[in-house]
Amino acid sequence: MKYTDEFRDPRLAERLVREIEALVAGMPRLRERPLQIMEFCGGHTHTIFRYGLERMLPQGIELVHGPGCPVCVLPMGRVDDCIALAERPEVIFTTFGDAMRVPGSRKSLLGAKADGADVRMVYSPLDALALARRHPDREVIFFALGFETTMPSTALTVLQAEREGIGNFSLFCNHITTVPTIKAVLDSPDMQLDGFLAPGHVSMVVGEAPFQFVARQYGKPIVITGFEPLDILQSLWMVVRQLAEGRCEVENQYSRVVPAEGNRPGLQAIDRVFELREFFEWRGLGSIDHSGVRMREAYARFDAERRFAVPNLKIADPKSCQCGEVIKGVIRPWECKVYGTQCTPEQPLGALMVSSEGACAAYYNYGAVKPAAQAARREVVS
Ligand code: SF4
Repeated sequence: MKYTDEFRDPRLAERLVREIEALVAGMPRLRERPLQIMEFCGGHTHTIFRYGLERMLPQGIELVHGPGCPVCVLPMGRVDDCIALAERPEVIFTTFGDAMRVPGSRKSLLGAKADGADVRMVYSPLDALALARRHPDREVIFFALGFETTMPSTALTVLQAEREGIGNFSLFCNHITTVPTIKAVLDSPDMQLDGFLAPGHVSMVVGEAPFQFVARQYGKPIVITGFEPLDILQSLWMVVRQLAEGRCEVENQYSRVVPAEGNRPGLQAIDRVFELREFFEWRGLGSIDHSGVRMREAYARFDAERRFAVPNLKIADPKSCQCGEVIKGVIRPWECKVYGTQCTPEQPLGALMVSSEGACAAYYNYGAVKPAAQAARREVVS
C-alpha cells in the first residue's frame, strides 16, 4: 500500500534499531541506569505495543508511557456530570464511542443509555449539530473532549451554530491542553525522564514553538513524532542522538504533516471560542493549573455547564489505583497492585485501562512485554 508500507518496512526498522544500539553503546553513563524516554501521546503508546517496538530496543532504553489519552484522564466526577446531563428527559447527549465506557462512580454513559437515557454516538461535533437541527424540540449536548487536536473542530462547530442561530445545541466542555500537562510531569519530584516524543496530532495544530520550554527550561530533548513504527523508531534515534551529542532541542520528525507554525486558522478558532480554566482535574494526576479550557462568556449560551445544573462533585479514584505513578514512570503498569486482577479492560478500575490507548490497556491487550523480561531491563546495565 502506497505511503503506509513504506513506514512499516522491517529492514529499515532493523537498521534504525542498530543505529540506536550504536549510539547507546557509546554512552557510558547508561551503566548507572537506563535512559527513560516518555511518549506523551496515547496514539504513540498504541503503535509501540501494536508493533512490539519496545521488545526491539536495546537494553539501556526504557519507554515511559505518558498521560496523553484524553479519555483515560477524565476524572470520575466529570463522568458523573455527563450522566446527570444525559439523564435529563429533554436532552440528547452525544459523544464519541470511546467515551461511552469510561466508568463514573455509579455507571458509565453506556450504563446510562441501558437505563433509558438518550445517549447517541457521533463521529464529529458537526453530527451533533445536525441532530440539533433535526430535533428542535430537544436539547442536544455534545461531550467535547480531547487535546488541541480536536479543539478546532469543536470551536468551528460552535461558530457554525452561532451563524445559523441554533439555540438547542451546547457543549459539555472537557478539552485539555498539552503544555501544562508535560510541565506537570517534568515538575514531579519523582521525575527521571531523559527525553520526550511529542504528540504529532497536537503539534499539527500548535506547531513547534510551544515545546521549546522542554528544551530551554528543563534541558530535555523533545522530538515531534508520527504514528507509524518507523516514525517512532526514527524519533527515538533522534532523541538518543541529541543525548549522545549533549544537545537538547525541539526537532520535528513528523514534518510531512506538522508545519513549524502549526495551523493558524485552527488556533484562531480555538482562541475565539475557548479560554483557559484556572485548573482542571485529571484522573491519576490530580489538579493541573491551566490545563483545561472552558467557553468564553460570549459563547455562554452554547455552554452546557452554564445552561444546566451539573453536580460538579469531586470523586476520588479507588485507593488501590496507581495510575499517577504509572504515568510518571515510577512504576510500570504490571507493577500496579490491581493490574490484570481487579483492573482489566473489561472492568477498568483506573484511568489507563479505560481506552485501548491507555498504557495499562495496551500492555494487557497486546501482551507485548513480559514482566520478567522488562524487569531485567530495569536492572543496572552491566
Ligand atoms: S492497573 Fe488499573 S489502577 Fe493500576 S495503574 Fe493501571 S489503570 Fe491504574
